[in-house]
Amino acid sequence: MLNQVADGVWVRQSGWVWSNAIVVRGDDGLILVDPGIDGSELDQLADDVDRLGIPVVAGFSTHPHWDHLLWHPRFGDVPRYATSACAHAATEARERGQKMAAESASGIPLELFGLVTPLPADGGPLPGEIIEHDAHAVGHAAVLLADRGVLLAGDMLSDVLVPIFDPRRPDQVSAYEAALDRLGEAAKQVDVLVPGHGAVAEGPEVAIRFAVDRAYLDALRRGEEPVDARWGPRGS
Ligand SMILES: [Zn+2]
Repeated sequence: MLNQVADGVWVRQSGWVWSNAIVVRGDDGLILVDPGIDGSELDQLADDVDRLGIPVVAGFSTHPHWDHLLWHPRFGDVPRYATSACAHAATEARERGQKMAAESASGIPLELFGLVTPLPADGGPLPGEIIEHDAHAVGHAAVLLADRGVLLAGDMLSDVLVPIFDPRRPDQVSAYEAALDRLGEAAKQVDVLVPGHGAVAEGPEVAIRFAVDRAYLDALRRGEEPVDARWGPRGS
């Protein structure tokens, strides 16, 4: 089921790690952000989208992890975008991603997995502003929909997952802190934050998401084991 969280922004949550598929209305039609997860859910999302009665014109993947690179034939043969670094990483690791997707969820159309290309410089059909940063994964992008008061955070600022670092790159704590600074600036313009996994944060909950992630990073900086009830492989 799609839940409308703001004007022209809907979210469908999966049971798989509370993953959020996001539907954004642009000028020309709908953009599906990180649709997931298993095949039957993608099919249900297609039903939900049909009911909106607006065509899908594009897809967008926030980052090159398998659970953010999915698609379904019923969404149509439309361009699927990502940042240039994300598109490059997704293409390079496509086979590995397909394998992970097949092992982790059922009924995923693997032939459509990871087919993303760089977003045009003007954003193409995707409304809002891309905020690309170096935390969590190469080419990770949040999407600021300032006119709707919404920030699509990708795999940041979750209430169910701790900050998860990119194991292939150095000094991810600093990268994460810098990313939170930039997202924090963007969040001044919003009252709804949609994470890739977990509950949508509204109003005062948005600031709490930042505070909890910063507390986790601060503990790491002090050399302590963070006390955090959220799930996550520490340092993975
Ligand atoms: Zn991720």
